[in-house]
Amino acid sequence: MQLQFLGAATTVTGSQFLLSTGQARILVDCGMFQGSPNEAIRNRIPLAYDPSELDAILLTHAHLDHCGLIPYVVVRGFKGPIYATAGTVELARLVLLDSGKLQQEFAKRQARFARRNPGKAAAEGREQQAAFEAAIELSGEDSMADRADERNDRAQMVVDDDRGEAWMAPNPEVALRYQPPQMEVELDEPLYDERDAERAIEHFRAVRYDTDVDVAPGVRAVFLDAGHILGSAIIRVTATDSPDGPERTLVFSGDLGRHDTPIIRDPTHVSDADYVLMESTYGGREHEPQDEAVRILAETVRLVAEHDGVLLVPSFAIGRTQEVVWQLDRLIAEGRIPHLPLYLDSPMASRASDVYRRHAEYFDDQTRRLLEQRETPLDYPGQIITNNVRQSEAIRRAKRPYMIVASNGMLTGGRVVGHLRELIGDPSAVLLFVGYQGKGTLGAHLQEGATQVRIDGAPHEVRCHVRSISGFSAHADESELLDWVSNFARGKKPGDAGFPRRVFIIHGDPAAQAALAPKVRALGFDVDIPRWHEVVTLD
Ligand SMILES: [Zn+2]
Repeated sequence: MQLQFLGAATTVTGSQFLLSTGQARILVDCGMFQGSPNEAIRNRIPLAYDPSELDAILLTHAHLDHCGLIPYVVVRGFKGPIYATAGTVELARLVLLDSGKLQQEFAKRQARFARRNPGKAAAEGREQQAAFEAAIELSGEDSMADRADERNDRAQMVVDDDRGEAWMAPNPEVALRYQPPQMEVELDEPLYDERDAERAIEHFRAVRYDTDVDVAPGVRAVFLDAGHILGSAIIRVTATDSPDGPERTLVFSGDLGRHDTPIIRDPTHVSDADYVLMESTYGGREHEPQDEAVRILAETVRLVAEHDGVLLVPSFAIGRTQEVVWQLDRLIAEGRIPHLPLYLDSPMASRASDVYRRHAEYFDDQTRRLLEQRETPLDYPGQIITNNVRQSEAIRRAKRPYMIVASNGMLTGGRVVGHLRELIGDPSAVLLFVGYQGKGTLGAHLQEGATQVRIDGAPHEVRCHVRSISGFSAHADESELLDWVSNFARGKKPGDAGFPRRVFIIHGDPAAQAALAPKVRALGFDVDIPRWHEVVTLD
């Protein structure tokens, strides 16, 4: 059987792996490439397979860089089932519909831009074409080149200057969290639209954790909790080339979460596999302890209360917002912060929170205990949820002090920008970052201490306080990654049953992978860092 690395190979986005056996072809994840223009252009290269010949897709979790190309593949002929946990099915629905809508809007915006700035658009189009050709070459799929040339003749691709800059992010988590999803488009052609996303959603089949599922002829899969976001999974796949052939077990880590993250359970320890594909987002890095993050959060809320100020927290819709609300609710319950009004100003985050609430079966012991004590850990007491722009704008007239959690997390768009415009010149306001800010973004400029910034083109003096917390992360750090993979070696030696024949390090930038690889090798594993589109024979 063969495994092809169609994404998240020496990069953090576009997760997609094609497993071909003598009896079946399945994809694990079908994610969108996000990041610099050179990265996003990879979504456009011709598919390496015929979607109508795929038996099934297995989806680890609902982040766009893992599920974002599913509608694209469905439009091109995929007819089979898409297996994911019930939580992932519901969150992926939100993510894909939103993505389809944003793709359409972005295409329209780009068309307008090109009409108004034909010279600039043409120059950028040429740049994009060069990036596209480079991507084809990088993929090593020579047969694609001809088809690609044809496409290039038709396609004229343009990229938005400001956003292009924003995407040049050195931090691995940036690309994963960034909204909107897509930055390069053929002028009149989004990758897919909302209707395509709706069609794709019909292919989803919900599976339970820890339950064997026959997903294709000779292929079984088990979904294990990955502790990353609600419904996230490590997928263990067992496959044979022929009905009486030997079985091989592949473990796909998906994105691995951290221990003791609120709400969801810890990542599952897995101990046997023939092959392991392990994410490496935070190779070479350690996170600050969660206690410290919570301490800074509490201190900031107290500061805002004392000065009758406003606390503005830019946050991503799925995972981070729920976690911040959970922490604030706990701090109130423990009497560590005063009870300020909290405005939740992100429709996507509110819908994601509804999905979280519906799936108490995924919660960790601590959150379950809180529910049993009739607490509502996913809800801040008296929280005010906005439903439209008018309500969002009305927040500024509220009596101080109060807090706002609004998306998006890097101030590159969304309702948070309107709040920031109101608060940036206000010395009694605090802007609190709970996630990394991508290089070149407004968030990064503020974090670096800029005294003047432009918001929607207009200059503003920075008079509000700016604080940052780095301890809230949805990804395991290096120690946690090594701890997870070491379970495959425990009590075994190379050659023993269940000791991996090879560990593939995926889903990481080259520097992170280079830092992590020798440490994984030191555990006794044969380690490989596959390149994009590489095909590996699994014997
Ligand atoms: Zn993820």
